[in-house]
Amino acid sequence: MTHTCRNCKRTFTSKLELELHRDTCSDAQLFCGKCGERFAERRATRDGWHYECPSDECDGAGIGEDLRRVRDAITVSR
Ligand SMILES: [Zn+2]
Ligand SMILES: [Zn+2]
Repeated sequence: MTHTCRNCKRTFTSKLELELHRDTCSDAQLFCGKCGERFAERRATRDGWHYECPSDECDGAGIGEDLRRVRDAITVSR
């Protein structure tokens, strides 16, 4: 069974490899503070203005609110 990164579509043979990749995936620029999902900016918006978490069960929305840029989150945690 293969595991596919939902952001860049790369495939991995183990779940661990995928999880390691998700931390460095350059296609996942946004991070949802509600469910912890990472995703590409283009998956979270249709018009480039209103952003929503792409996870079905999650109602996180808004840049700088529930959704944050991974780069910013990393800067803060250091
Ligand atoms: Zn990826
Ligand atoms: Zn979410």
